[in-house]
Amino acid sequence: MDLKDHIRSIPDFPKPGILFYDISTLLAHADAWQVTMGRMAKAARAHQPDVIAGIESRGFLVAAPLALKLGCGFIMVRKKGKLPGATIKHTYDLEYGSDTVEIQEGAVEPGQRVILVDDLLATGGTFAASIELLRKVGAEVCAAACLIELAFLKGRERVDVPLHSLVSYD
Ligand code: IMP
Repeated sequence: MDLKDHIRSIPDFPKPGILFYDISTLLAHADAWQVTMGRMAKAARAHQPDVIAGIESRGFLVAAPLALKLGCGFIMVRKKGKLPGATIKHTYDLEYGSDTVEIQEGAVEPGQRVILVDDLLATGGTFAASIELLRKVGAEVCAAACLIELAFLKGRERVDVPLHSLVSYD
C-alpha cells in the first residue's frame, strides 16, 4: 500500500506559501492506519526500546499506539507550560526567537532506551531539541521515527540517531 495515497497536502496552511501535509485522512482510513502502525512497529521493534516518547501534538497520535504495540511505556514531550508537576526543560533557538520543550520529572529513568516519535520531520529542529531534552535526564535515545519526511529540507542531518520515516517527499 502506498501511504501517500492517504496523505493530503493543503496549500497555504497555516500561512500563505506553506504546503501542509495532513495526516487526518490517513488516521481516518482504518486499513491505511493499520498498515501505517504495522510498519512503524516493525521499524521500532528492532531498537528494543523501553519507552516511546511522543512529540506534541500529532506525534502523540503515532507514539501512543506504537507503545501499546511494542509493550512499552508512553511519555509526552510537550511545549512549555502544558505538563503538571515538576518538569525538565530544554530551550532552543528558532529562526525568530526560541521555544521550549518539556517532559515530566521521573518520566524516564537514566539509561532507559527511548524512541522519539513525531508525525513529520521538516527542518529537524523539533527532533534535535527533543533528543537533547531526553539526554539531559540520562535517557538513551536509540532511534527517532516519523510518518513523513520532507527530505528536501535535509532535517535528517540534524538528527544524530537512526531515523525512520515511512514516506518521503523530495
Ligand atoms: P521541524 O522542527 O522543522 O522538523 O518541524 C517538525 C514539526 O512541525 C513537527 O512537530 C510537525 O508536526 C510540524 N510540521 C511542520 N510541517 C508540517 C506539515 O506539513 N504537516 C504536519 N506537521 C508539520
